[in-house]
Amino acid sequence: MEIAIKTASPEERRAKPTDESKLGFGKIYSDHMFSMTWSQDRGWHDATVEPYHEIPMSPASLVLHYGQTIFEGLKAYRLEDGQIGLFRPENNIKRMNLSSARLDMPQIDEEAFMKALELLVQLDHEWVPHSGGASLYIRPTMIATEPYIGLKSSAKFLFFIITGPVGAYYPEGFNPVKIQVTEKYSRAGPGGLGAAKTAANYAASLLAEKEAQKAGYTQVLWLDAAERKYIEEVGSMNILFKIDGTVVTPPLGPTTLAGITRDSVIQLLKSWGVPVEERKLSIDEVVKAHDDGKLEEVFGSGTAAVISPVGLLNYRDRNLHINDGETGELALKLFEELTGIQYCRRPDPFGWMRKIAVS
Ligand SMILES: *Cc1c(COP(=O)(O)O)cnc(C)c1O
Repeated sequence: MEIAIKTASPEERRAKPTDESKLGFGKIYSDHMFSMTWSQDRGWHDATVEPYHEIPMSPASLVLHYGQTIFEGLKAYRLEDGQIGLFRPENNIKRMNLSSARLDMPQIDEEAFMKALELLVQLDHEWVPHSGGASLYIRPTMIATEPYIGLKSSAKFLFFIITGPVGAYYPEGFNPVKIQVTEKYSRAGPGGLGAAKTAANYAASLLAEKEAQKAGYTQVLWLDAAERKYIEEVGSMNILFKIDGTVVTPPLGPTTLAGITRDSVIQLLKSWGVPVEERKLSIDEVVKAHDDGKLEEVFGSGTAAVISPVGLLNYRDRNLHINDGETGELALKLFEELTGIQYCRRPDPFGWMRKIAVS
């Protein structure tokens, strides 16, 4: 695949953030974006890197009406030698193609995808922050662009990648989150879209998140839609419980997103000899473990925060305090190890980092 490159002129270049401690998340975009178009007769074509720009599209575009869209999220890290590293990007590429298959969208050639990622990061390498904990967030997205008001799969798609610098999730050190277990709403049902990174799952979660926040919690923990009994995941994180020395996490299935951080955590724990079980875990078992004094730690895993300790779980009229609301030892160790690998400060025994040379 040939990628046409049109670099931003000096006037088109955007002002880079001067204070990396105030980056936040998701509000700043780098100078360039990648895009390519798919049509039934031509397949993928017109692969281009060009200045970040708005997308002209028909108000009848299928994505706006029926939500045929998928995305990914990964980060580029500034390494100590000045080069840049991506964390397990081939997994994001594979997962995007799984999401794509579920949403009846076209597959993307893995090599072409990787080439696009690398080229974009190389071109905008100056946008990769230098301060610890900060990184360049990368958001690949595919949308249905055929103008048509009838319900069907689109005959035209746009794939694009945008990037932007993001700050450390916990700039002042870990702050354990308070999570509410919801029985009122569900995120994904059997046979639905739960395993795909697609807009509908997040749209389904917004009201629940808002209600939880009004009640004083940060996020929602989803139970299975059929019985409201088994734990699934948090809005944008997988969840793990340390019960009596063993880490238990719900198994992957059609209603949960297969997190790359989750997989990395499991591999690390196994390599450390910490027992890990991927199995169904009911909310009743968690409450009982808490009441028996065996619920030692709870933490989420995801690209944005890497590891997110949970200090409190609210379920019905119970507030379960976990580890006195403090960050657990294992959560901290996992965070240190994972970020150590991501910034190449520690050895990378699993070969997770893909380095990008910048001149
Ligand atoms: C992206 C996401 C995760 C975490 O996946 P990572 O690959 O670890 O970032 C977990 N759950 C949901 C619903 C997600 O969208």
